[in-house]
Amino acid sequence: MNADVDSPWTDLVAIEPELARLHAEIEGTVDPGGRAFCAEALWHTEFKPKLMWLVGFRAQNHRLRNRMAYEVALERLYSALPPCRGCACCATYTPEEAA
Ligand SMILES: [Zn+2]
Repeated sequence: MNADVDSPWTDLVAIEPELARLHAEIEGTVDPGGRAFCAEALWHTEFKPKLMWLVGFRAQNHRLRNRMAYEVALERLYSALPPCRGCACCATYTPEEAA
């Protein structure tokens, strides 16, 4: 059984193969260690701008210019990131040490 067959994500990748490349890039992201790691910050600076060219209202491909495509891709890609650790999203954050 392959639950991925005919999923909305599979459909998106069939239309825009660059999504699979971006997903692989995100999957390859590792928490580098140190004091903290913020998946949220990384998402907004690195990956969200790329995603916005692929799906949603700024998509290159007009077939992906819709909210559903954006939400499916967002969920799939964001869940591929390592979890936040010790960052602003987390209770352990200490602002004076963040710089
Ligand atoms: Zn975070």
